[in-house]
Amino acid sequence: MNERITIYGTLESFEQISPEDYSLVIKEYESGKEWQIVATRWDVFEDLQLFHHYRCTGVKTLNGLTAEEVDRWGRYCDVCGKWHTEGYYVLEDGYACDEACAVALYNGDWNAFRADLALLDDPETEEEAPTYWTEWE
Ligand SMILES: [Zn+2]
Repeated sequence: MNERITIYGTLESFEQISPEDYSLVIKEYESGKEWQIVATRWDVFEDLQLFHHYRCTGVKTLNGLTAEEVDRWGRYCDVCGKWHTEGYYVLEDGYACDEACAVALYNGDWNAFRADLALLDDPETEEEAPTYWTEWE
């Protein structure tokens, strides 16, 4: 029986099997389980890059997984774990889905968070800002 599933993961490697049949390995982020993906729609995968995070929706069959669509460029929130495609890049290495999670990465110090965001308003300090809102790419 076919089962529709969504996988979140980091594409670690893929190899070409034949011109129209590609095999991808996506490592599931939470459990560390490896999933074999058989991509039947190459257009979905043509731009995939290694080491980015993806959300892949597909159908699980006896033979593996058939990918239907891939949501690329997302990130997991470092605070609540939510998958998001735009959010705060915090203190130069954190990912936060919204303001509340971003402030949590400042240990709850809302004033420090706002002070760092304010650096973006001045062209002279803009490049020093350790935190900003962005669409992941
Ligand atoms: Zn969050």
